[in-house]
Amino acid sequence: MELGFSACGFAAADPLDHLHDFYRHFLEEERQATMAYLQRYATQRLNPELLLSGVKTVIAVLVNYYPPVLLPEEDNFILSKYAPGKRYPPYIKSKMEPLLWMISGLGENVHSKSYVDSGPVLEKAWAQRCGIGWQGKHTIIINRSGGSYFYIGIILTTLELEPDLSETDHCGSCSKCMEACPTGAIDRPYQLDIRRCITYCTNVKNAPMPEEVRKNLKNRIYGCDICQDACPYNRFAKPTPDTHFHAHPELANMRKKDWINLSRERFDELFAGTSVEESGYERLMRNIGFAREGE
Ligand code: SF4
Ligand code: SF4
Repeated sequence: MELGFSACGFAAADPLDHLHDFYRHFLEEERQATMAYLQRYATQRLNPELLLSGVKTVIAVLVNYYPPVLLPEEDNFILSKYAPGKRYPPYIKSKMEPLLWMISGLGENVHSKSYVDSGPVLEKAWAQRCGIGWQGKHTIIINRSGGSYFYIGIILTTLELEPDLSETDHCGSCSKCMEACPTGAIDRPYQLDIRRCITYCTNVKNAPMPEEVRKNLKNRIYGCDICQDACPYNRFAKPTPDTHFHAHPELANMRKKDWINLSRERFDELFAGTSVEESGYERLMRNIGFAREGE
């Protein structure tokens, strides 16, 4: 927590056998869409011993990215809350470095590896087992006292640590996220048909944009957040003080006409170092074109 994480928990590094059938069905139904990497290393995803020999403990941390200033939505196209922040995987990995050093000093010949969207690790399942959140019906990790606007970092280590209690489900009879989703992507509780998710269709390179998604973009041009905004637990979300995740201040002045006339030079200024930049100017302008069809 001193290193700036919002939550941290430990779990014994036993295989995730309870997810075996779920993951097999996920792949059989081709819910991974064009993200072929989800098909690779399926056995490693379910068994951390195959990633780090002698692993004893999995550590999960949460990093808050909830923005202090919400961009105006009136007469505007909408970006998800994480989009204006700088790219998170290398940054969070660097935040985890001191933790790795700390762990290596706690025993002899301790080996550890860290992952932030960077390997065959089921981050959300581990976050739940580590007791720092549960996977809501929209499939995103929710922390009971902070909501769901978090990135997850994972460490595997050969150091044995006393495990925390895994978190239980607190969705209850609520289904607000499923009702709010404009494309029906959360077609069953706790399951997401990625092919119909606005986030996938707008963000991922080469992801197709099916007609049913295109007609229901609700002005989204990069990412979505509709299901997360509908979740009652996000009333506990607190703005992050970490400037790495803060938007370029001039994004708050953008309105629809400015997006439509966005030049490549302006795009480069507004999105330097972000995942929007990585995804590219052409993709954002394509999404703006699709969102305009729904005006
Ligand atoms: S991000 Fe948007 S499209 Fe995807 S599941 Fe949530 S509400 Fe539906
Ligand atoms: S909106 Fe309700 S059902 Fe959906 S994740 Fe939040 S608490 Fe769970």
